[in-house]
Amino acid sequence: MSATSHDCVFCKIVAGEIPADVLGRNDHAIAFADLAPQAPFHVLVVPLEHHEDAAASAAADPAIIGHLVTLADEVAKASGNEDYRLVANTGAGAGQTVFHTHLHVLGGSSSMTETLV
Ligand code: AMP
Ligand code: ZN
Repeated sequence: MSATSHDCVFCKIVAGEIPADVLGRNDHAIAFADLAPQAPFHVLVVPLEHHEDAAASAAADPAIIGHLVTLADEVAKASGNEDYRLVANTGAGAGQTVFHTHLHVLGGSSSMTETLV
């Protein structure tokens, strides 16, 4: 673990070194639009502190995950999405491509009609 990782795209967004469409932030996390949206509403919620996945963040400090869920709920509802899905891909085999903890926040009527689990 480290507070930041030099080659990490999400650390660069946190640092303001590359642009993002930011929807919200708090002292612990930032929410920004996914570059390749998979739903009408698709936002990523990312902790400011770098860990490779949600389990690693939880191991470092369980409160980090709470802050992510709280910000996810705020940005979803502020955008009119009372109902939404949270996804945390963990490991390349599950589709994780950016190894900095993040929650996908997915909303919009079309995506919510499909039941994954
Ligand atoms: P995952 O596959 O779960 O690791 O999710 C990574 C997500 O990050 C993908 O949905 C990408 O579209 C998204 N992504 C990658 N780079 C950026 C970026 N610079 N700004 C916004 N979203 C990004
Ligand atoms: Zn990072």
